[in-house]
Amino acid sequence: MNQVTHLVGLTQAELTALVEELGEPAYRGRQIFAALHARRLRSFDEMTDLPKEFRARLSESSSASTLTVEARYISEDGTRRYLMKTHDNLPVETVFIPEERRDTICFSSQSGCPLQCSFCLTAKLGLLRTLTAGEMVEQIIIALNDAYGVGAKTPHGTNLVAMGAGEPFLAFEPLMKALKVMSDLKGLHIVPNRVTVSTAGIVPRIRELATVEDRPHLAISLAAPTDELRNELMPINRKWPLNELLAACKEFERSLKPSERFTFEYVMLDGVNDREEHARQLANLLNRHGLRVKVNLIPHNPADPLPYHPSPPERVESFKRILESKGINAFVRRPRGRDIYAACGQLAARRPANPQGSALHQLA
Ligand code: SAH
Repeated sequence: MNQVTHLVGLTQAELTALVEELGEPAYRGRQIFAALHARRLRSFDEMTDLPKEFRARLSESSSASTLTVEARYISEDGTRRYLMKTHDNLPVETVFIPEERRDTICFSSQSGCPLQCSFCLTAKLGLLRTLTAGEMVEQIIIALNDAYGVGAKTPHGTNLVAMGAGEPFLAFEPLMKALKVMSDLKGLHIVPNRVTVSTAGIVPRIRELATVEDRPHLAISLAAPTDELRNELMPINRKWPLNELLAACKEFERSLKPSERFTFEYVMLDGVNDREEHARQLANLLNRHGLRVKVNLIPHNPADPLPYHPSPPERVESFKRILESKGINAFVRRPRGRDIYAACGQLAARRPANPQGSALHQLA
């Protein structure tokens, strides 16, 4: 890291302390916080309500933005993928998913990912580095500005999902800090209740999240109903096998209100984990642990060189019916942004030819 403080990752209180250290009154901190998070400005030059001399001094030791947008891809279904780079030249990807009721932004917690899930393209990058809180928040600012206009109100609020590149629970500290910064009423005002964090199953952090008061929703990526198959698809299972994972899930469930649910995600791989037998094993496993969960079935998003294909729709439907017949709520997720490498498991800094890259001057 360089010595420059990225102000986007600071809470309002931290920002106030920082300006006071520079000999400025506390209200300047609140002013900068509003400029960054409510007006969503990305350079000190635009903050013309701050004295010019102070802006110059600020930029000596701090920065209002560190990510640069390199390309924007727009899918046939309206999904947008932003390919950005960090100050140290690493790829960061964010996806904006327009939806009927409320739009969703999917952000990344790491550049690349250290987990070697065999069905995921991001795994091919390996871990480049964990992102900072500021880099997580800045992704949201960039996507909101592009979707709605700089500083413009979001029509129905936004949902966030930490389901981009990386394993959010290996970025636990910066992630929780980012959520805190984003929840501020004077800033983005995206509260944890609007956020879902997906994990491949980092057991100690699931237990830790159970103790956090203002916390996001939880999703767990399962992909297989037995240790034998899960070891193969998600090597993290060798460290925390299904029994340990589901025991932690049960503990998490006990911390929920009676009306709250958490989610399991199950990627459907043709001929690998989608047989009727797998559906029965999955239902039995969840019922044995007494979990009142829902299961999202995600047809695999293919990408070269991943050796899998999505399960055909009829097989996904029959898998769903078996789960339901055993009392498990199951939903089939519609893939979004597959044509631009924006769907689940497709973020790997791919650069397909796409004319939308030409609109970049509005973004950078
Ligand atoms: N590391 C976290 C979050 C990122 S992945 C996790 O594993 O949960 C988000 C979801 O996409 C996970 O449920 C993952 O299993 C799923 N996924 C990964 N690759 C996929 C692919 N090629 N097609 C469909 N879903 C995929």
